[in-house]
Amino acid sequence: GPCIEVRGGGKTYASARGPVTALTDVGLAVQEGEFLSLLGPSGCGKSTLLRAIAGLDPLTSGTIMLRGVPITRPPERMGMVFQRDVLLDWRSIRDNVLLAAEFQGLPRRAHEARAMALLDRFGLGAFAERHPWELSGGMRQRAAICRALLCEPEILLMDEPFGALDAMTRDDLNLELSRIQQDGARTVVFVTHSIAEAVYLSDRVAVMSTGPGRVVEVFDIDLPRP
Ligand code: ADP
Ligand code: ADP
Repeated sequence: GPCIEVRGGGKTYASARGPVTALTDVGLAVQEGEFLSLLGPSGCGKSTLLRAIAGLDPLTSGTIMLRGVPITRPPERMGMVFQRDVLLDWRSIRDNVLLAAEFQGLPRRAHEARAMALLDRFGLGAFAERHPWELSGGMRQRAAICRALLCEPEILLMDEPFGALDAMTRDDLNLELSRIQQDGARTVVFVTHSIAEAVYLSDRVAVMSTGPGRVVEVFDIDLPRP
């Protein structure tokens, strides 16, 4: 069966101006090992759906199954990269990456070598002892990706990780993809409003539309991979 399955997914937020329906009747299946992008305009509910899959903010109707089991809380073996990197300014880059182990109550010592290997792979080896404010936005996002990969997640969720950056070239994206896929993170759900990012990075693209948010079409992408 699928790795992640959303059935009849609906989300209505309560807000000061009354209820806001962000998602309605979303159906989506993400297969084991695939890289799937959620593509759609701002406000169509991409972040809402990703947060629900992460177990951070539940749907108000429908179900999300992880390998056949309904999600009720943030699952283990899941890594998440947010739109804005959420690095702690008073910790070094290496210690920010090691936070992922601390959050899960895993021994820090056992993860130090992997943290350095990840930072090397993402071109940040020389910046391990620097602090977030000393790095560019792109470097900070790559550090956040290292943190999400530290504990070898089986599922990686990314919410516009490159969204705050200038448009990336196809070569840039292929490089990031190869870094992400080199080990761990077999199943990836990637949120973007950029068609180029979705096409260059994904095996499949689920297109969402507003009014209210739903998945309107799913495309296979058949591009040669790096
Ligand atoms: P996105 O770029 O994904 O649309 P936004 O920048 O619109 O995200 O939203 C940033 C944060 O504000 C999110 O945590 C989101 O949940 C929250 N948010 C977005 N829209 C509203 C709203 N209408 N009322 C309250 N919070 C909102
Ligand atoms: P996207 O990620 O595609 O930009 P979002 O999931 O951030 O879309 O938002 C979908 C809709 O839900 C938008 O209309 C947004 O304003 C609304 N929304 C998001 N978060 C909140 C929130 N915390 N409270 C109220 N409305 C929200």
